[in-house]
Amino acid sequence: MRVPLYDLKSQNGPLKAQILAAVERVITHQRFVMGEEIGAFESEMADYCGAEHAIAVSSGTDALLLALMANDVRPGDEIITSAFTFFATAGVIHRLGAKPVFVDIDPDTFNLAPRRLEEAITPKSKGVIPVHMYGRCAPMPEILEIAERHRLFVVEDAAQAVGARMSLGVAGAMADVGCLSFYPTKNLSALGDAGMVLAKNDALAERMRKLRIHGSPDNSEYDEVGGNFRMDTMQAAVLSIKLKRLEEWNAKRRQNARKYAERFEVGGVISERFRPPSYSDEGHVFHQYVVRAPERDALQEHLLRNGVGCAVYYSSPLHLHPCFDGYQQGDFSESETAAAQVLSLPVYPELPDEDLDFVADTVIRFFA
Ligand SMILES: *Cc1c(COP(=O)(O)O)cnc(C)c1O
Repeated sequence: MRVPLYDLKSQNGPLKAQILAAVERVITHQRFVMGEEIGAFESEMADYCGAEHAIAVSSGTDALLLALMANDVRPGDEIITSAFTFFATAGVIHRLGAKPVFVDIDPDTFNLAPRRLEEAITPKSKGVIPVHMYGRCAPMPEILEIAERHRLFVVEDAAQAVGARMSLGVAGAMADVGCLSFYPTKNLSALGDAGMVLAKNDALAERMRKLRIHGSPDNSEYDEVGGNFRMDTMQAAVLSIKLKRLEEWNAKRRQNARKYAERFEVGGVISERFRPPSYSDEGHVFHQYVVRAPERDALQEHLLRNGVGCAVYYSSPLHLHPCFDGYQQGDFSESETAAAQVLSLPVYPELPDEDLDFVADTVIRFFA
């Protein structure tokens, strides 16, 4: 048996006729850039997330860049974020000449620890980017409270958490600005790169709409320099079709996570050597199902040898990459330990039950 980590065919295959019909509509009207499908998808997403504004953009990375540009991030500013996230979260800070200031994570959730955030604030701090890691919401009430007290802007990196919830709201729609990614393996996925910015504030949203098109909506006058951050019409047409299924897909991911937890419990493998994620958090959308094992490399080799797709996100915390200066090994021990122990198992919505059982059995056999 072979179980892949992702299987995009099992999701896009059954939607092929609908997707081709949508693509054909775009090819017929030929408004490939900023066609009406963009506005339609934007309002569907604003409704779905409970956001005032939704702005379709070219990728999750560009969504973050745009959000920071609209918050006037400049050289010399410090922007605080998690040491344990995808590179793009900190890359965009660096690209604007600002300094990414890393903080450590809560080892139970992999999310930025609010206590660490407070310690990292200096007079140069301008904003914070909490990341909803693996599809679980960061502790937003605490983060927003600290940010407000220190007058920091908050941009949520909800790239991995489209549709995730907590009592305060939907991921990406809780702070001033939230950024989503529709990269092909994310929970809501395009047929290529695409992303979105959500915003509460009218003026900020207006500015981001302008910056999305070089700085001027109509090419007439440029009072500031933006970029080309537009989403293709074709991607919006496809995403509108897939959005209708997102709740169902996220529920399937949660169900798969619960099944794994049951299998591991019954298999008697949960110990210091192996810790599955908790599934108690109802709003978790399990972009990744991430287990922890001190013998991670041996476990991964065993799984791959036996046909189980699995991968490490991320094998090195951001503060240890040579492009970000000023940090060293030992600075953020929880992030470093996580990078050494995490392993993602298949959890995609279409994962057949017998495949899930095979993955669980193969894991259990390693520890037996
Ligand atoms: C995927 C991802 C991004 C970037 O999104 P792209 O659409 O690939 O540019 C940013 N942050 C996190 C946490 C991500 O997982």
